[in-house]
Amino acid sequence: MSHAPSNMLLRRGPSFLLFSKPHHLLTSSPPLILPLLSFPQQLRYASLLHLPACRSRLYCSHSQATVPSPSHEPTTNPPSSSSSSRVADKKREKFVRRALFVPPGVAREEVTEEMILPGSNIVIGPYAGHSQIKQVEFVKSSSRVKDCPKDDRPEFAMLGRSNVGKSSLINALTRKKEVALTSKKPGKTQLINHFLVNKSWYIVDLPGYGFANAPEAARMDWSSFTKGYFLNRNTIVAVLLLVDASVPPQKIDLDCANWLGRNNIPMTFVFTKCDKKKSGKQRPDENIKNFQELIRKSYKEPPPWIMTSSVTGLGRDELLLHMSQLRNYWDN
Ligand code: GDP
Repeated sequence: MSHAPSNMLLRRGPSFLLFSKPHHLLTSSPPLILPLLSFPQQLRYASLLHLPACRSRLYCSHSQATVPSPSHEPTTNPPSSSSSSRVADKKREKFVRRALFVPPGVAREEVTEEMILPGSNIVIGPYAGHSQIKQVEFVKSSSRVKDCPKDDRPEFAMLGRSNVGKSSLINALTRKKEVALTSKKPGKTQLINHFLVNKSWYIVDLPGYGFANAPEAARMDWSSFTKGYFLNRNTIVAVLLLVDASVPPQKIDLDCANWLGRNNIPMTFVFTKCDKKKSGKQRPDENIKNFQELIRKSYKEPPPWIMTSSVTGLGRDELLLHMSQLRNYWDN
């Protein structure tokens, strides 16, 4: 069954409900208030992230970052004195400011630099809450959408090209090796795998796409199978579309991103392998910027994006915090 985009607007999802919820719901005090502005408030942010206080200063060096983030100064490269690199940094900063993802409960004009998660365009708002994963259990593998769990818990669907680093990211997020191992088991890679987190929400591992050697028919099957899941599953809080930032934008990822945008599926771009810099090749942040320029027309509002590395841990806690604010909003 195909849904027209107008139907999709009725679904409960943070990305497209931003301006469709009654105003009083957006501005009323939600249960989890994340203070943002003063230093004590930043300490609270640190405690939500379970970070040392110094890292609550969003623009301080990310201890694990090895690549410059578009939203702040390079952390490992010495500051360049060349005017061209200063201009490039300024342009990147402007790019982030222009295309911020502003969550419910925050007015765009109130956003300050401190409210933007490092290495992302994501503004943290009042719905952000405790985000750490304490417990994960494999629930089931489903070959059809109608076989997926029916308990109405919110879920995040993880999607990406094969080899993008999906298993590594799931491992990094959950710190449980068996989760990714289950997903990699022969026979399970082409199924929808549900993992219950903290007994309250799901991580859903979807089949990877773009297997280089898969016959055309198998690729088409993947496509209709996964598209059916997106269009018919109304417990999706957001799709996390994983994109390898160490390579220039790939057509198959752009096609997927454009399709999700055109169909109003709430989503977040999770750029992987941001620690990787091949000599003579474009930097991850340049690939990210190019990627977003290529998909911009498919999105009415700038979708959230975040840089991650499963090798250094870059973006892990920030991604979990972002997921918590989407989830808490969805729950309310
Ligand atoms: P999947 O097929 O999407 O599940 O990808 P995997 O998690 O199995 O990763 C594919 C390859 O990329 C493996 O060789 C990983 O070690 C590597 N990889 C995954 N994440 C990262 C990362 O953040 N940085 C780097 N440098 N390599 C990574």
